[in-house]
Amino acid sequence: MFLSPLVSELVEALRVLPGVGPKSAQRMALHLLERNRSGGARLADVLVRAMEHVRECSDCQNLTEQARCHICESPARDHGLLCIVENPVDLLAIESSGSFRGVYFVLKGHLSPLDGIGPKELGIPRLLERVRAGEIREMILATNPTVEGEATAHYLRESLRDQTALIVTRIAHGVPMGGELEFVDGNTLAHALAGRTSVG
Ligand SMILES: [Zn+2]
Repeated sequence: MFLSPLVSELVEALRVLPGVGPKSAQRMALHLLERNRSGGARLADVLVRAMEHVRECSDCQNLTEQARCHICESPARDHGLLCIVENPVDLLAIESSGSFRGVYFVLKGHLSPLDGIGPKELGIPRLLERVRAGEIREMILATNPTVEGEATAHYLRESLRDQTALIVTRIAHGVPMGGELEFVDGNTLAHALAGRTSVG
């Protein structure tokens, strides 16, 4: 099918989305142009504003338009209880389970030396600094129960050996090995949090 230069450009641009190949991108572009111009205009507008204004929370690296996210800002949360997750989707999964009243640190991935992702890329120096400042009573390692997630949890545990007063726990029960938190239901997550165990 012949596509005009601008339509081709739109198709190409849509391919930045994960899992969108040339065929799906073409369908999306034609759908917007032929059937939903107002939806397309709204998408364009929100995209520009989100790309411009959404940034990382200075405390937890969660996505926010403010300097600090609503969780870090909330006086109702327990700021001595810190839950470490791999990404914002995992944070949302735990939040929607409704069973956690502490605060978070979002790593934005896991350690993956072969891909050039080390502690610095994940913001770990900032996390360690925050824990060493002494405000944190318990750190819950809620990285995914995958090989990489376990390695990342282990690295964090070892890096904070000198913090003798700090309690370090790992969610375990109910989260399937090799599973990812975002696909675990709220009830199971609530149990996994409640049944967390200390990591020696
Ligand atoms: Zn935050």
